[in-house]
Amino acid sequence: MSCKKCNSPKSVILRMKDYYCDNCFMINTNHKFRACLGKNKVLSPNENVLICLSGGVGSSVLVDLIHYSISLDNTKKLRIVPFFLHIFDDTTIAESVLEQCKHLNFNIHMVHISDYMNSTHRTLAVNCIPRAEQDVEKTFQNMLNSMPPTAVNDFIIKIKRHLYIKYAEHLQCNTIFTAETTNTLAINLLSNLAIGRGSQVQNDIGFSDIRDSKVKILRPMKDITKEELDYYVSIRQLQPTSTNNSANDNSLQSVISSFVHGLQENFQSTISTVCKTADKIGNCNEDKSEQKCIICESNLNTDITKMSALEATNVSRTVSYGTTNFSQTTEISTIFDCDNRTAVFPFVHKYLCYGCSRNHSEMIKPSLPQHLQNIIGNS
Ligand SMILES: [Zn+2]
Ligand SMILES: [Zn+2]
Repeated sequence: MSCKKCNSPKSVILRMKDYYCDNCFMINTNHKFRACLGKNKVLSPNENVLICLSGGVGSSVLVDLIHYSISLDNTKKLRIVPFFLHIFDDTTIAESVLEQCKHLNFNIHMVHISDYMNSTHRTLAVNCIPRAEQDVEKTFQNMLNSMPPTAVNDFIIKIKRHLYIKYAEHLQCNTIFTAETTNTLAINLLSNLAIGRGSQVQNDIGFSDIRDSKVKILRPMKDITKEELDYYVSIRQLQPTSTNNSANDNSLQSVISSFVHGLQENFQSTISTVCKTADKIGNCNEDKSEQKCIICESNLNTDITKMSALEATNVSRTVSYGTTNFSQTTEISTIFDCDNRTAVFPFVHKYLCYGCSRNHSEMIKPSLPQHLQNIIGNS
């Protein structure tokens, strides 16, 4: 068997049927990355771009692709000014991300994930791991410990998104690159649907997240699969550190992840089918109000006219908790008490979207960062 492009001996087999040599495979992967950015025409020349690195397989390939593309000396050169950021909770991983960037002569900024609790910018540590803020880290950990694993996985994605945007603004970048692959996005799509974030799919899974008014998040690796990344890593002899599958065990996301990967093994088009379906889901959100969720910046569907899954769950929870005198004639709106901390879904539609309110409701005791509590409390 030989490479389908150049007839050299094959060394890479994709989807059990496409044969490539190393060289053609690398050209192909680079092309996918550039095509994704080119097709969407979203970058202006010499734009500052914040590249967010996790240290995992996707992130290691992204930094390598960037390094290659900006070093080109022809019309194919990627004309961006890259800044690098690593949000860490594990110093071992942080050290190896540091090493990766040093190797490529890139400067990297480091922030601990507990910085979510702070409303102000920290002075960014460049090329070193910042000193621990023990009090803040402890409060942050307590907040996560008070939630079930499924809510934690979901919340961590929102926390990182918030920090990416916060530091992109700080570093004067209007664009962010993240390294989600087709596989990750397929899992995120199904998880989103399952936890009631169906209306947010376009921003969470599509090429770009444009919920923030100043900074857009792009996913230039979205057409590259995990299988391709693994070949890329071995051909380039990269050393990724964390595994990409960081979902806590015993969570909905970990179940969906093993379901998708199990299916993919026997049905090679599973993941691409899921993602193509996601591309077709448009944003049917006609809510013109400017109100956004204070955690994830999704539009709040304040105009509720139909019986949604949220209302159904709200009614059933209310009835089972016996917190409201509920009869057949009770108006749905009376069970929504958006201002009430003890409501079944606290602050929903007023400050939080359904997904974020649900996470909040699953905290044993409400322990959102003070700056968010202030917004809720001062109304
Ligand atoms: Zn070839
Ligand atoms: Zn939200």
